Amino acid sequence: MSETDKATRPAADSADLTIEMRGVHKWYGQFHVLKDINLSVTRGERIVICGPSGSGKSTMIRCINRLEEHQQGQIIVDGTELTDDVKHIDQVRKEVGMVFQHFNLFPHLTVLENCCLAPIWVRKMPRKEAEAVAMQYLEKVKIPEQAKKYPGQLSGGQQQRVAIARSLCMNPQIMLFDEPTSALDPEMIKEVLDTMIELAESGMTMLCVTHEMGFAKTVANRVIFMDAGEIIEENEPHEFFNNPQSDRTKLFLSQIL
Ligand code: ADP
Ligand code: MG
Repeated sequence: MSETDKATRPAADSADLTIEMRGVHKWYGQFHVLKDINLSVTRGERIVICGPSGSGKSTMIRCINRLEEHQQGQIIVDGTELTDDVKHIDQVRKEVGMVFQHFNLFPHLTVLENCCLAPIWVRKMPRKEAEAVAMQYLEKVKIPEQAKKYPGQLSGGQQQRVAIARSLCMNPQIMLFDEPTSALDPEMIKEVLDTMIELAESGMTMLCVTHEMGFAKTVANRVIFMDAGEIIEENEPHEFFNNPQSDRTKLFLSQIL
């Protein structure tokens, strides 16, 4: 397919195209934070996004579920273009789950209540059913015995696994992770990564901002390097790590590996 064909092809043409960002720009006031981002994600892809602090990684993935608004270009998620239309935003958010660095659980609700809240209020699921679904996912992330506890009574690794289970309860098609292990003590990182590996093996489409390069090497099918608001380089992991093209990528890798 030629470059022109790619640029003009409507996203809905391809059933397995799940996220498409075309010429996306974003500014925070005068600050140009995303510069001409072009990204096509196919169903089932596992993409790791890395780059220096402040390069726009969080902003980019937050634009995908409209936690941040872009000012130029197009973002199409599962055939729905993100515009000011609240219906479109709601539609996209139903498809996209997000896990944050600091878990963002509701501290005054139990683990089970955290997991049931959105299915009951957004999906209008009966409470009994929501609880059954929640228990199923808490089992999947291996903490069903914590269901009645409050987030503050759990370790960081357990809280992050609750956050993953809570997202999965909404049955998303795509999961976004923003440095999900960066706030964890070293001994808890593995339990969260193991949960993410299982999710990847189940076929979930995943975009993960992470500095865990071991995870990138074994789980990702594509690694994207961002710097100063641009996608500088992307490749399959083996090539990315062994044969980086840009000097900026080489410098970044020399600092973290
Ligand atoms: P990363 O996740 O790669 O560390 P971010 O996307 O968080 O980068 O931030 C990119 C740049 O945008 C940084 O310089 C940051 O200071 C700036 N930034 C982030 N959020 C805001 C905001 N709400 N208002 C103004 N500037 C912001
Ligand atoms: Mg960030």
